[in-house]
Amino acid sequence: MKYLIAANWKMHKTCAETLDYLDKFLPSVKDILNVEIMIAPPFTALSSASIRLDAAKKEGEFNVKLGAQNMYFEEKGAFTGEISPIMLNELNIDYVILGHSERRHIFKEKDELINKKMYSAIEHGIRPILCVGETIEEREQGITLNVIENQIRKGLAGIEKDMPYIDIAYEPVWAIGTGKTATPEQAEEVHRFIRSLINEMSKGNDDKTRILYGGSVKPENATDLIKQENINGFLVGSASLDPEKFYKIIINS
Ligand code: PEP
Repeated sequence: MKYLIAANWKMHKTCAETLDYLDKFLPSVKDILNVEIMIAPPFTALSSASIRLDAAKKEGEFNVKLGAQNMYFEEKGAFTGEISPIMLNELNIDYVILGHSERRHIFKEKDELINKKMYSAIEHGIRPILCVGETIEEREQGITLNVIENQIRKGLAGIEKDMPYIDIAYEPVWAIGTGKTATPEQAEEVHRFIRSLINEMSKGNDDKTRILYGGSVKPENATDLIKQENINGFLVGSASLDPEKFYKIIINS
């Protein structure tokens, strides 16, 4: 299984800043072919990034893919402000991040909506990364694993057979953008649980599904986290905004 190191830029970087980043970042990862790298810039920068990446790929082999940070499940229609899978397909977008905790908590997205988006992404050949994670209150109540199981069962309802086309990101809400990282042991406990859950749900067909860890990953903690048996990559927010830090996370992984 090729590990995946993914960057979630959230609402950061204009088109010009994205191109500037890629100019610095792409040459540094040119020869890194043992892991897959994904960058999810804001929607407005996806088109420019896609053209820039195509040009780079003509010059040599690159393991860098593009992802969207969200999408709507319908193909088109009166859905003001939304972006459809067809629009992402046109730009050769390989991944979409779904159910990120900021979408769940700030924009009140529920598991049922996330599940419809998961269906739609798979139907359109875009590989979804389903994000799950508990709040600090839920961890303190001792219900972390119940929360994770509920989010995964509902997010993947009806698409268990499509497990080979899905990745999962465990992102404890209390560790996102806070500087607090789960210890490797805390993360591994949840990752091990997720692995056995998706193994059962997919009837053993989960060997292509990567379980990423996300939550204040940086060059200093990447090596210890990635050593854990069930951590198959990272979803990185803040530290991915700096091309040098993101590069260091990749080579430390
Ligand atoms: C994220 O937004 O997915 C994330 C993990 O953010 P950060 O790395 O900043 O905690």
